[in-house]
Amino acid sequence: MRNSITVARVVRTIDGLRTRGDDHVPRAAGTTSSGGAPRIRPSGGRRPRVVVVGAGFAGLGVLRHLEARLPADAADLVLVSPTDHLLYTSLLPQVCAGSVEPRHVAVPVRGLLRRTVLRLGHAVDVDTTSGSVSVVDRDGSTSELGWDRLVLAPGSLTRVPDIPGLAEHGLGLKNLAEAVYLRDHVLRQLEHADACVDTAERRARCTFLVAGAGYTGTELAAQMRRFTLEALDRFPRLTPEDLRWILLDQAPRILPELDETLGDGAMKVLRERGVEVRLETSVSAVTATSVTLSDNETVPTHTLVWCAGVTPNPLMEKVGTETVKGRLVVDENLSVPGLSGMFALGDAAAVPDVTRNGAPAGQTAQHAVRQGAAAGRNVAASLGHGKALPYRHRDLGFVVDLGGTDAVANPLGLHLSGAPAAFITRAYHLLALGSGGNRAHVAADWLLASTSSEQIVQLGFLPSPNATIAEAEDTHVYSA
Ligand SMILES: Cc1cc2nc3c(=O)[nH]c(=O)nc-3n(C[C@H](O)[C@H](O)[C@H](O)COP(=O)(O)OP(=O)(O)OC[C@H]3O[C@@H](n4cnc5c(N)ncnc54)[C@H](O)[C@@H]3O)c2cc1C
Repeated sequence: MRNSITVARVVRTIDGLRTRGDDHVPRAAGTTSSGGAPRIRPSGGRRPRVVVVGAGFAGLGVLRHLEARLPADAADLVLVSPTDHLLYTSLLPQVCAGSVEPRHVAVPVRGLLRRTVLRLGHAVDVDTTSGSVSVVDRDGSTSELGWDRLVLAPGSLTRVPDIPGLAEHGLGLKNLAEAVYLRDHVLRQLEHADACVDTAERRARCTFLVAGAGYTGTELAAQMRRFTLEALDRFPRLTPEDLRWILLDQAPRILPELDETLGDGAMKVLRERGVEVRLETSVSAVTATSVTLSDNETVPTHTLVWCAGVTPNPLMEKVGTETVKGRLVVDENLSVPGLSGMFALGDAAAVPDVTRNGAPAGQTAQHAVRQGAAAGRNVAASLGHGKALPYRHRDLGFVVDLGGTDAVANPLGLHLSGAPAAFITRAYHLLALGSGGNRAHVAADWLLASTSSEQIVQLGFLPSPNATIAEAEDTHVYSA
């Protein structure tokens, strides 16, 4: 918890909003953070300000609920986010594989929200004493933003354990820049291999390792193997025997976080497609040209994609209340115990899942979306509109898209594979995208991908030195 503003930072007025000091309004005494509170109107007659941190599934869910349910004069709504869009992460493997265009998985905030003010930047600190949050702009300057209600939903970052060489050479898949870079990188390896006369070097360039066989790593390995096999048409000197995709995980099975039948179904597809799956295996060292595994085998390769887990956004540790593995502890109503007016949800919060004896809910979009609606309702209740209710969620199943007509899914407990699962999976994504424009574009992308040949081009937006996980995910902003 921060108690004073670092003087070295430039503190400036936020466009259209007053800064901390002249605008901070103490939270109304005697009000609770949720449920049954009298209508709040801060002293001075101005409207209370609700600040939501994070434009993901959770944060936007809160704001959509508040815009729909709160009277326009009940509160000022402010969103703090480094991007002007919600990233539909579930389709990132398809962005790498080229079946969906990058912009089409970015759902514009301005299309979803009407009266919320978007404050572009990273929230990097929270002052719970005076009620303000520090926001760092792209240009590096810091502003303070006062809040009467604060909703923290900044999601998670790729977890990078202390494995020699991983931070320098591992590639992440958490945002659009990383997805586009990864596709470019794979194509670059194929170009190098195609021009290469040395057999060992050609094989190393054509070997791709994916660490972490959760839904991200499994979808990525399956879809990229398919994509690179198809791309060989354009690389006349390469053969399918040159190509190796290796998926590894410490766990004894793939998709360890999901129902076993999904893992078995996905494993069958991976094997048929020629992905090598190495279980109970981890990475012990990485260099620019090799990856050493826990069984001491060294695999010559220029590519390690690190999909082995996420870590909650570092902002959560700045609040100063209890965390579980970095996730901020909240109660069933998604409010932070002991801090009136503060809520947290999504990947960054430890939300008790009442269907699993109060264990922290999974870090999935499904939970984040539903928590968004629940938190929106409870923030409104804390402002005197409606009644707070605890978060309850019944698992609706999961979908795993393996590319082409291959998928596994268990909607409402029904076990599906092959074309029916692929149909359900894509219908689910279209429904969940939440914007008509994005739905139309993604559907058109799928149609084109299934009827025309792949465009083999590198976009080159992100230079290689900026492709480390730390650079691509802006982790430096939290250490200032
Ligand atoms: C490649 C991939 C595939 C996935 N596939 C699936 C799937 O198929 N099904 C599923 O259920 N889940 C999937 N997930 C997990 C799912 O994306 C997350 O569980 C979900 O996004 C969590 O929602 P959230 O709102 O908490 O975080 P996010 O959706 O990550 O949103 C966090 C938001 O906060 C913003 N932000 C970050 N830092 C700051 C800051 N300091 N200040 C302000 N804003 C900040 C981010 O820009 C982002 O807008 C996948 C994840 C990945 C990476």
